Amino acid sequence: MKKEAMFYEMSKEKVHCFLCPHNCVIENGHTGKCNVRTHEDGKLYTINYGEVTSVSLDPIEKKPLHYFRPGSQILSVGSFGCNFVCGFCQNYDISQFKAKSEFVSKEELIKTILTAKNNIGVAFTYNEPSIWYEYVYDCARFLKETDPKAAVAIVTNGYISQEPLKELLPYVDAMNIDLKSINGKYYKALCGGSLEPVLKTIETAAKACHVEVTTLLVTGENDTLEEVEEIAKILSHVDPGIPLHLSRYFPRYKLENAPTDIGFMRKAEEIARKYLDKVILGNI
Ligand code: SF4
Repeated sequence: MKKEAMFYEMSKEKVHCFLCPHNCVIENGHTGKCNVRTHEDGKLYTINYGEVTSVSLDPIEKKPLHYFRPGSQILSVGSFGCNFVCGFCQNYDISQFKAKSEFVSKEELIKTILTAKNNIGVAFTYNEPSIWYEYVYDCARFLKETDPKAAVAIVTNGYISQEPLKELLPYVDAMNIDLKSINGKYYKALCGGSLEPVLKTIETAAKACHVEVTTLLVTGENDTLEEVEEIAKILSHVDPGIPLHLSRYFPRYKLENAPTDIGFMRKAEEIARKYLDKVILGNI
């Protein structure tokens, strides 16, 4: 469903969106880099409001969140669109394309969350939730007002501006944030983004809710022990209690590099443990 977007202003016949650090300036009839925010005659609209492409009751560990209400299940929902263009995206069919979706109103979603058996709440995941902002914000707020004990989790690339992030955080209990690399060139070349805003998101979120971080170790791109050590060191400066998931890469979408070497992953885990209390290997 089309809905007027938050976080934009008009200037010189163009719309300036400041939901994410791309800060797109969009001409009439065009969309932003995320492909889900479009300028129509002086207004910015989000086109994926309430549009659900995927829904599943998942173990919380699958998000991955290993230290937030472990052993529980969470209703996980996603839409389409992303503000990154990672060549190795595992969910490229919904992140890079306008996948088939079904409209689910805020009220319907909250009813499903509250009536699903053995469910602790909702996780916004699969595609990038930050560019599904208006729906995520409305649902998270409505759920917390209806049942403050219900959990809200966000699985994100962390590429969101500070103002929208801070407005959303009071309704969020847990986040898993990707820290894809500690190298700005990697972010630019492989993801079409930048590193600094992601680090800022981790810092801000860690003060407000439970945070875990995921790094996908991509063969030939960021699989060096020096890089893993740097990631662990930086996270330890935020909080050495932040769990770090080192995740194994498999060829997907546009990237055909070999899967991550498991021997390397074990060494990476050892190095990261010098700085962080909790390091978890994923996808192995
Ligand atoms: S949310 Fe979309 S339109 Fe807005 S700045 Fe980011 S990429 Fe551009």
